[in-house]
Amino acid sequence: LMDWDNKKVLAKGIVERVTIGNSFIKHEATGKEEITINHDCPHHTDAIQLILNTLTDPKIGVIKDMSSIKAVGHRTVHAGEKFAQSVLIDEKVIKALEECSHLAPLHNPPNLAGIKAAMAALPGIPNVAVFDTAFHQTMPKHAYIYPIPYEYYEEMAMRRYGFHGTSHLYVSKRAAIMLGKKPNEVNVITLHIGNGVSHCAVQKGISVDTSMGLTPLEGAVMGTRCGDIDPYIPIFLMKNKNLTADQVDTILNKKSGVLGITKKFTDRRDIQKAAESGDELCKLAEDIEAYRIKKYIGAYAAAMGGVDAVVFTAGVGENSSRIREKALEGLEFLGIKLDKEANKIRGKENEITTKDSRVKVFVIPTNEELVIIEDTVAILEGKYKKHTEYLYSFQK
Ligand code: AMP
Repeated sequence: LMDWDNKKVLAKGIVERVTIGNSFIKHEATGKEEITINHDCPHHTDAIQLILNTLTDPKIGVIKDMSSIKAVGHRTVHAGEKFAQSVLIDEKVIKALEECSHLAPLHNPPNLAGIKAAMAALPGIPNVAVFDTAFHQTMPKHAYIYPIPYEYYEEMAMRRYGFHGTSHLYVSKRAAIMLGKKPNEVNVITLHIGNGVSHCAVQKGISVDTSMGLTPLEGAVMGTRCGDIDPYIPIFLMKNKNLTADQVDTILNKKSGVLGITKKFTDRRDIQKAAESGDELCKLAEDIEAYRIKKYIGAYAAAMGGVDAVVFTAGVGENSSRIREKALEGLEFLGIKLDKEANKIRGKENEITTKDSRVKVFVIPTNEELVIIEDTVAILEGKYKKHTEYLYSFQK
């Protein structure tokens, strides 16, 4: 919750385990300790109500009543090719989200439930959808068309979409500011490395390629997702292990990535600890993850004809100096000179290359919520053009 007039975050939080039992809210009023409250949320409507009740609670809340909430911004995942930018939610937008549900079955239905719940709890208050795919709608056709029969694109809109758009947008703009340039003057490679991982080539302020594809399974090695593999592997598994499509889906989405390699961990902290005590599979998982990040840096530098900055963000990117160092090892030929001391930073904006490094590398904590709020305010004030052009905080 942000007080926009004073540009002040009033509270942050999250409701976890919605619909699956033992749900709870984490709530942090600015300047106070984070608190956790257990509260059953069988539906998303319950979660939205719990958020509103917490924000207006006389003891732990930060506002008197709901009348001070003027708008709600929603992080929405998949809009297919229907929306290339953020949009005020109306019946047409809801229908479009429903129609794209087959492209993001895990994300769009809960998004819709959240939107409908917010509309019911705050009648008359505008809701804005900020799409995770929108930032990547600037990709050229040669970057988003797959080399499969073209009619699948024509019939079912099968193509690369890309995700984590608000994060890539935010950190690439921040990188331009840290370089002392305008976004349209620089090429930036953004590496969003968390549980989900995606990379993006941001050329002169716009996304020209990204590693996630039709779904968030493609690209980098992730916590539980495989990323790039030989496309014959699913067929091979179905034929040789007699697995169904659903079983293969579970294996590639939930049992692969660093979890698949280590057989036990998704959390990179656990992996690092085990690797340091000699666990060979954990060492291997780190090597594979870092090696593949390095390959994307090389690929995107080539795709853009040069790079000015590389950004690490999200849980691993912001915190793991070890993965950063491994991924950047040997990239001196590209103009990257790591400053090992500066690379010890965790969770804070920092330049981690030496002064004479031709290409700068930054750690930038992502702030997707800020992009959502800015787009929402801009739309309501009638000043929104395209979120690549109009963002308050990035004009500083
Ligand atoms: P996210 O999806 O952005 O919330 O990132 C989650 C991932 O960040 C998890 O795999 C965490 O293990 C990882 N992470 C958080 N803190 C650290 C850390 N200090 N070192 C390595 N990985 C971390």
